[in-house]
Amino acid sequence: MKKLLAGKLHIISLGCSKNLIDSEVMGALARDSGMTMANRPQDADVVLVNTCGFIGPAKEESLEAILALAEIKKQRGGAIRLVVAGCLAQRYGRKLLSEIPEADLWIGTGEVGRIAEHLQGLQAGGAKRKAIVSRPDFLMTAHHKRVLPSGAATAYLKISDGCSNRCTYCAIPSIRGRARSRRPEDIVLEAENLVARGVREIILIGQDTTAYGKDLKNRPLLSGLLTDVSAVSGLRRLRLLYAHPAHVTTGVLETMASRENICRYLDLPIQHIDDAILAAMNRRVSSKTIREIIRQARGMMPDLALRTSLIVGFPRETPKRFDRLMDFVRNMRFDHLGVFTYSREEGTPAADLPSRISEKEKERRRDAVMNEQADISLAVNQTLIGSIQEVLIEGKSERRGFALVGRCRRQAPDVDGVTYLKKGRAAAGDFVRCKITGCDHYDLFGEILFDNCRKMKL
Ligand code: SF4
Repeated sequence: MKKLLAGKLHIISLGCSKNLIDSEVMGALARDSGMTMANRPQDADVVLVNTCGFIGPAKEESLEAILALAEIKKQRGGAIRLVVAGCLAQRYGRKLLSEIPEADLWIGTGEVGRIAEHLQGLQAGGAKRKAIVSRPDFLMTAHHKRVLPSGAATAYLKISDGCSNRCTYCAIPSIRGRARSRRPEDIVLEAENLVARGVREIILIGQDTTAYGKDLKNRPLLSGLLTDVSAVSGLRRLRLLYAHPAHVTTGVLETMASRENICRYLDLPIQHIDDAILAAMNRRVSSKTIREIIRQARGMMPDLALRTSLIVGFPRETPKRFDRLMDFVRNMRFDHLGVFTYSREEGTPAADLPSRISEKEKERRRDAVMNEQADISLAVNQTLIGSIQEVLIEGKSERRGFALVGRCRRQAPDVDGVTYLKKGRAAAGDFVRCKITGCDHYDLFGEILFDNCRKMKL
């Protein structure tokens, strides 16, 4: 490839794993065009912040990061070019262009594949600041390289982008575009490439992974994709996230239950359980179906780790409806659970709904769910004491009293707890067999049984 760019680039990736992949792709495109990577914004010629912008707190975090970089730019006498990419730029780039003059360029989510071109324009001395916000239709392929952290043993793999579900509270379809699935053979090729680079665990992601294939001509099934990716030689672990309950099929659960290297881990973001709220959210699924999926999944996989996420304080969530959600959380005993307070997002249908709940009450409800879940999570972890788990080592532990940290199959990165190991030697990327000897609310503690279970054929 012709080297059109020069200088050092520093990337800050905010928000979710889907955004992280976009950052990795942009990093590789810039690198292949001649840039090198800087570890700190202070050392870079160009700083790119890939923002999140789907709800209030995420927008605030993005704005804070941009303003902090603007300050560094000021300290360096304007020697840095500041590029803002991602969801916030897609949603508000044109508006923020005039409000944050320190940012040189705003590029939306549709521009990921053209980052080298945009950086070239910037480096060619284009003094004019601009916002480039096009239709969000970028979809990566296996031919896009990615900058992964060196020695990465775990990597996300985006099987689709965008979403066509139109949940009434969600701004994502307008930021990320309609649902677009990658072809199965392209996904398998990327999985092979990742394994060849040393990745041991692949995590399939998308806005709604269970909608996979519905937009493609021959409508490939997610269950078939899971089978094909799990068959990639050398792949030790495969995990699926973001399974919308309206689209989970028996076939997907059966595949999860039958393939040895697929984690028995179901991330089922239900958001609520009250039927009136589910309908107002346009979730296209009933409480009965949600209960049935959980019953079926646990029936097929008694060792299943079940994760969900909830929204509390949605308009019309009366105390009675909230109690229904609390009862469900209490009875269903999720292994992992996250709660968001409802964020009223402009341009979404729910923003116009009456009977809004005060911020204070939303926070009270969130805290009530989290307190309940903390007890459940501790009790679930206690049941694991004495069990043997396969742990993928992530590195040295920073927690006192422990030598190593890793994740067992029940723990997804970034959102769940981890497993701390008291002593033993292993490198990042090794799998070790551990006995769980203790826990706290969210993490497990264990001891290595054998130093290297690759030899043990775990
Ligand atoms: S499924 Fe609903 S909440 Fe999730 S991205 Fe799509 S529209 Fe948003």
